[in-house]
Amino acid sequence: MKTVAIAIDGPAGAGKSTIARAIAAKLGYIYVDTGALYRAVGYAVSAAGGDWRDEATVVASLPHIEVSLKHVDGVQRVFVNGEDVSDRIRTPEMSMAASAVSALPPVREFLFHLQQDMAAKNNVVMDGRDIGTVVLPHAEVKIFLSASAEARAERRRLELLEKGQDVPFEDVLADMKKRDYDDSHRAIAPLRQAEDAVAVDTTDLTLQESIDYMLKLVEEKLA
Ligand code: C5P
Repeated sequence: MKTVAIAIDGPAGAGKSTIARAIAAKLGYIYVDTGALYRAVGYAVSAAGGDWRDEATVVASLPHIEVSLKHVDGVQRVFVNGEDVSDRIRTPEMSMAASAVSALPPVREFLFHLQQDMAAKNNVVMDGRDIGTVVLPHAEVKIFLSASAEARAERRRLELLEKGQDVPFEDVLADMKKRDYDDSHRAIAPLRQAEDAVAVDTTDLTLQESIDYMLKLVEEKLA
């Protein structure tokens, strides 16, 4: 079966996951959140008592880590060695851990096949940093989603607050800027817009406006 892939890349907090999830639900595709995979690796290293900042530790941990994805009622759950870690990876520390481990080539290689396999077997809406450039260069639709750092930090702050984590705006903004910088300047698979991606800026759009706009765009591209 020929499968269809929609790749959505962009910096943290641009609205990728919410929008990707809405598009997947509308089209009946599977939503794959690839950031969760990098978070899972960071989590696995620290759960085993290792330091995710230490490259040698992370690389030595990989043979002992099994990451898998399952979709329950259309919602992605991430497992590390059989344990559902989906909720535990959503902390500011795991965001930084994901960003750190994701700069290591062996980690990207480790997760590459899992991502390609998902897209080979399913129609997917996949979001991340390098989906349109590296993981699925032949995706039928590629979108690069962005928004100002301030708008993205405020959205992320509200998201964390909803989960009971009250983090000051300045801290969220500083983390966001560091991650943006690191993600765009790393040597391997840096965050950048694919040449054939459509750029969408959501700074001045509400979430619903962004979803409506993107759905229209995707439907036009697939028509
Ligand atoms: O999207 P999310 O914020 O969960 O991603 C966490 C981190 O994982 C990002 O800051 C980035 O460093 C890394 N990542 C990546 N490639 C992807 C998805 C995420 O390098 N495809």
